[in-house]
Amino acid sequence: GKPICECNTCYGGHDYSVFSPDCAADADSGDPLFLEPFWMQHAAKSAVLIAGWHRMSYTFYDQSFISQELENHIRRVHSIARNAITKGKYIVFGGGSTQLLSAAVYALSMNLSSPASVVAAPLAYPLYETQTNYFQNNHFKFNEDALLLNNSSYTTSNVIEFVTSPNNPDGKLREPVSRGPSVRVIYDHAYYWPHFTAIPAPADEDVMIFTISKLTGHAGSRLGWAFVKDEDIYQNMMSYISVAEMGISREAQVRALKLMKTILQGNGLEIFDFAYKKMADRWEKLSRIISLSKRFSIQQIPPQFCNFFEKVRGPSPAYAWMKCEREEDTNCNQVLQAANIIGREGTRFNVEDRYVRLSLLKSDDDFNLLLHRLYKLVTLEDDAK
Ligand code: PMP
Repeated sequence: GKPICECNTCYGGHDYSVFSPDCAADADSGDPLFLEPFWMQHAAKSAVLIAGWHRMSYTFYDQSFISQELENHIRRVHSIARNAITKGKYIVFGGGSTQLLSAAVYALSMNLSSPASVVAAPLAYPLYETQTNYFQNNHFKFNEDALLLNNSSYTTSNVIEFVTSPNNPDGKLREPVSRGPSVRVIYDHAYYWPHFTAIPAPADEDVMIFTISKLTGHAGSRLGWAFVKDEDIYQNMMSYISVAEMGISREAQVRALKLMKTILQGNGLEIFDFAYKKMADRWEKLSRIISLSKRFSIQQIPPQFCNFFEKVRGPSPAYAWMKCEREEDTNCNQVLQAANIIGREGTRFNVEDRYVRLSLLKSDDDFNLLLHRLYKLVTLEDDAK
């Protein structure tokens, strides 16, 4: 038989019910399978069947009926989540938000008189630097020194700053650190949903990027969208998508539309309740284990007023940013590996290996195994000294 879900590989046997005790707790990737049970509860309503003759042509999506429908539905989802003001803004679809991050750098730097420095404050999602260097071009250059920026810095030169809010890996809500007349900001709001953070106010920035990956969990569909205030920037981003891709897959759009329709059924609140409860519960369980430990700590996220829930709410971040507190534990990932836990090492985020990112987004099986292994590690702490 085949596994009925994309569960972890720790289960074998003819019906995938036999647990393999040596299996690692894999908390590395940000694959958002925590939402899989939600879609299992809505399996029939969210299913898509596309006839062979249907929607065959190229997506010159300005005129595409499907994308107009999808756009309307996406705007409605944002108005229910109360996380963004979309009125008066153009929308651009991309192959995941990944493609839009790069499209935005191109668009914002295209007509400048001197090259822009692309920056991201410390503890930055590494893809910004990777992409900027990989797609190098004489309109922009990644400025590594800016990774050291901590406080607001005034500049008169052209700067494009990535602001990830809430941040990957530490879940903090962030603001730009660069200031000046020629600073342009790309807000990466991949995690700006009630699932992962309080929404202090709806985002209303010039360039805001979202992704279906972290909203519905369908990371494999590769669909993201950007809201853009300025028409020229919007046109530049459309040109990028057009040159790179000639539009976004219709199948991805058809599936996304069905998912949005499913979300919007009833009062449209169900997915947010489900996701917030699950992530908050995971954080609470993890925090309880870490509170027993002197060896490990995780980031603090204060309760905050949420525009969606209309009350103060606790944390429910996508990742734990863990620190090994003992002086000798300079490589925290190795400490975890010895306990059969796989995290993502601090150096990937340009900080010391004393830090590790643990993904809290994966399936229930993955998360429960992570808790189990961590509990064992923490309770053995005193013996191991
Ligand atoms: N931005 C951030 C901060 C992310 O963590 C991720 C995925 N891990 C992405 C963008 C890319 O997401 P996608 O391309 O799946 O939309």
